[in-house]
Amino acid sequence: MPLRGLVDDLRDTLRDFRSRHGFGRGIAAPQIGSGQRVIFVEIDRPMELVNPVIVKQSRKMMTLWDDCFSFPTLMAKVRRHLSVDVRYQDLEGKRHSLHAEGPLAELLQHEIDHLDGILAIDRAIDSKHIVYRTEYDRRQGHAARLVL
Ligand SMILES: [Zn+2]
Repeated sequence: MPLRGLVDDLRDTLRDFRSRHGFGRGIAAPQIGSGQRVIFVEIDRPMELVNPVIVKQSRKMMTLWDDCFSFPTLMAKVRRHLSVDVRYQDLEGKRHSLHAEGPLAELLQHEIDHLDGILAIDRAIDSKHIVYRTEYDRRQGHAARLVL
């Protein structure tokens, strides 16, 4: 699929999911059956990253409850790097790099993992830290899910 079409598809799929489920900030091409190394994230603004690679990561870690629309009923407690530097290309093939911290950093780690077939449940701290979303909501309320 041409890149522009793929990115449109990723964006539409993410937004459609979010409108129905109330969460979802990023999506990776394998989640819609494409083998291309493309992710689309949307926290403050929409951003597509082609061939993203983490080139630097902080030693400092954060722990958070992660979700994913490939398994919308589950939450997994994972550890992620507090900040990452990512190199990627845009749709024209131009190279860029960015430094991300906090929510964007953990989201990029989540989505780049998808490109290698790694899911948040594979990263769960242990099997006790994979719970149903309903159970998570009951225990945690809707408090901020980012625990530094
Ligand atoms: Zn995911």
